[in-house]
Amino acid sequence: MKSKDIRKEFLHFFETKGHLIVDSAPIVLKDDPTLMFNNSGMAQFKEFFLGNGTPKNNRIADTQKCLRVSGKHNDLDDVGKDTYHHTMFEMLGNWSFGDYFKKEAIAWAWELLTDKYGISKDQIYVTVFEGDKGDGTSLDEEALELWKQHIAEDRILYGNKKDNFWEMGDIGPCGPCSEIHVDIRPEDERAKVDGKSLVNMDHPQVIEIWNLVFMQYQRKADGSLESLPAKHIDTGMGFERLAMVLQGKSSNYDTDVFQPTIQKLEEISGIKYGTAEKTDIAIRVIVDHLRAVAFAIADGQLPSNTGAGYVIRRILRRAISYGYRFLGLNEPFIYQLYPILKAEMGDFFPELVKQETIVTGVIREEEASFLRTIEQGLSRLNQIIEQLGDSKIIPGDIVFELYDTFGFPADLSRIVAEDHGFTIDEAGFETEMAKQKERSKKATALVTDDWVILDDKGNETSIAYDNTEADVKVTRYRKVKNKKGEFYQLVFNQTPFYAESGGQVGDKGSIVSANETIEVVDTKKENNLIIHFVETLPENIEGVFQAKVDISKRNATTKNHTATHLMHEALREVLGNHVEQKGSYVGDDYLRFDFSHFSKMTEEEIQLVEQKVNEKIAEALPLIEKREASMDEALAEGAMALFGEKYGDKVRIIRFGSSVELCGGTHVKNTADIRLFKILSESSTAAGIRRIEAITADTAINALKVAEKNYNDVLVALKTKNDALKAVQSLLDENAALKKQVEKFVAQQASAEKATWKAAVKEINGINFLAIKTNLDTAAAKQNAIDLTNEIENALIVVGTNDTVKPSITISIAKNLVADKGLHAGNMVKEIAKHISGSGGGQPFLATAGGKDVNGLDAALVQAEEFAK
Ligand code: ATP
Ligand code: MG
Repeated sequence: MKSKDIRKEFLHFFETKGHLIVDSAPIVLKDDPTLMFNNSGMAQFKEFFLGNGTPKNNRIADTQKCLRVSGKHNDLDDVGKDTYHHTMFEMLGNWSFGDYFKKEAIAWAWELLTDKYGISKDQIYVTVFEGDKGDGTSLDEEALELWKQHIAEDRILYGNKKDNFWEMGDIGPCGPCSEIHVDIRPEDERAKVDGKSLVNMDHPQVIEIWNLVFMQYQRKADGSLESLPAKHIDTGMGFERLAMVLQGKSSNYDTDVFQPTIQKLEEISGIKYGTAEKTDIAIRVIVDHLRAVAFAIADGQLPSNTGAGYVIRRILRRAISYGYRFLGLNEPFIYQLYPILKAEMGDFFPELVKQETIVTGVIREEEASFLRTIEQGLSRLNQIIEQLGDSKIIPGDIVFELYDTFGFPADLSRIVAEDHGFTIDEAGFETEMAKQKERSKKATALVTDDWVILDDKGNETSIAYDNTEADVKVTRYRKVKNKKGEFYQLVFNQTPFYAESGGQVGDKGSIVSANETIEVVDTKKENNLIIHFVETLPENIEGVFQAKVDISKRNATTKNHTATHLMHEALREVLGNHVEQKGSYVGDDYLRFDFSHFSKMTEEEIQLVEQKVNEKIAEALPLIEKREASMDEALAEGAMALFGEKYGDKVRIIRFGSSVELCGGTHVKNTADIRLFKILSESSTAAGIRRIEAITADTAINALKVAEKNYNDVLVALKTKNDALKAVQSLLDENAALKKQVEKFVAQQASAEKATWKAAVKEINGINFLAIKTNLDTAAAKQNAIDLTNEIENALIVVGTNDTVKPSITISIAKNLVADKGLHAGNMVKEIAKHISGSGGGQPFLATAGGKDVNGLDAALVQAEEFAK
């Protein structure tokens, strides 16, 4: 069965069981501060399990793009080394939200695997939860009894809390689970060793393919379990592992999911898969990482130096360095695999087709730049090895520094070290790594208490589009602690505060009661709850508060948001329809917009975009808003749906004239409110991605006022009425002429001085010695010293500049003296520069030191004479 058909069959099967089939959520999560990437099928449904939202249907199935490279699930180190863990994989899943429970989940899983997919029953093992004393839970008899109806009892294993109890996080919904394992060893091996003994033992051919989670508890902050009123089903099956089983292969990489890219890589590298362990691992790493990086970029997560972008960059670099080390690939190659991936998966994941130019452009550029880093790192490492000389050990902090600041992989340092007969200080390196981990853990550590629920009937709605003030009641609150300290999160029955999302910052403001005013410092969304951050808890938490949004900040932000839409449209008009939003920040201070475009914008293009936006502002276009539109309606109106965004059932359409966008942000009533739009800068953030920063309204007007004032100040300083440019030009001309004259004058003076210097040279022990003070500047003095050394034989020239602020000493020595007498100008200058509180150094025949204390100059010159003796 082809993998495409395996996926189709799964979705079809659950459709016939009354499930709604939905799209995969984006691989990069936007509105969940607790998770960077989607790492399981359930992540996009968290809000439903938490009771913060209602699903479209209480039975849902899909395939979810998952990435397990950070946080609780991190499989990165195994990827490539084993044959069944990937960074990015598809998780097939079916869900019940308070609908069916264990009976159906088990029966359907069994039916699909054995009947529809035809997996032999005597290759399957299942596990049930044995219970846990500490938690006060006992054997999951319900699941056991249900399984017994399908599978022989001796194929059912009992699992402990580690394998068979699933938790969403430290707190939240959780429950026992049943895993389904398949034994795909050849028959003779199966006859020899009982598969049962290999379950959950990391055997590559006795592997878990499916996990059925029965969510029936809620874990509280004190560690105790509470029964959930509505019980849920959450299942996840590894698509690539299933393909391996159904295609009769013994490795995920032998299936049609990976074979096409492997073949292309064999072609590029000239190395066959299956010939040696080391090159096999490299090939697996590369074709695996390609998918992770490609899907992440297609969903809008570009490689960068921070956060999720940094994780993506590191994955790509890992692939590049495996190619470099083991396959001898030192030119960009990963981007060449992309067309194959697109051809294989683009049908089901159209974002791969749509985003091809960006994805390949970005990967190629990242590859080229990292390969340069590798080359630079290599030469730096070679230098270090040379300096270290006999010690034969490269200190751990150096290896760490190469890794941390230059991105040069430790593995590479290790190999280069070995090539030179060196080792690296592994323990020291590990210590540095551990320190860094500790630092980043500290930076993100968040301790969250349980919610204190005051009113669980409140529907906690946003009224931010129409209001900036409202009477509110707190429906729940909790205490949270992070590195910044302790604060509280409040949820209101209704709120005029806009929660950060879609690039727009969260509202600030206050809540006021008869006896107190509490500042709201930020508003964010978490699993569909709108959370207000405050530093102190109101005394009368159950009272009514008047919530007041900081209107001036909100208004400024709103203007920037509308201006972002107008600019997006103008960019598409000026540059072309390939322009797509790739990221944005909309604050009260300015707006930032990242978009796909392959070259630097010209000055004319920037001005044209600015002009077009200002024209739309002048046209005074009214806001036309549709809050409850269907996606079809929105697309028909010309709105652009972005990949990497999660859209609900109903979308909101924001129209100003011909600009139409799907948007959840706040907007002006009329474009005239924006008054003025001004672009501050245009730059590049990654290959094929440009960034514009701009300002509007009062900020823009003030910026123009400041610019005007500066210009007027310049006119006054130039003593001209209007033509500043002409005045500046004539100053520049005059300046250039004066500079020439000064240079000539200095040269004349220097050469005159050189004649006096020459006369003052005295012979000491066969050395023509001179120590002299001069009023020349350091550069001229140095040049004179060099020239004089060339003009006379056996010269040792010491010149001190008589500069009260920055005195200097230069020593120049004839090369033959250096060789014959072992003189060293660098060491000498270090020695005598102490008299002028200075430091410096240089080569054996020429060195300069700068100082701070001119009073010591004479003493320094007197001491210099010792060198000749
Ligand atoms: P394992 O113990 O094999 O790492 P897991 O317990 O982490 O698996 P779950 O979190 O239960 O797995 O995920 C559900 C299913 O997703 C697994 O049964 C497996 O088929 C698949 N899966 C999990 N991690 C990966 C991965 N890194 N690559 C490919 N498939 C995976
Ligand atoms: Mg795992």
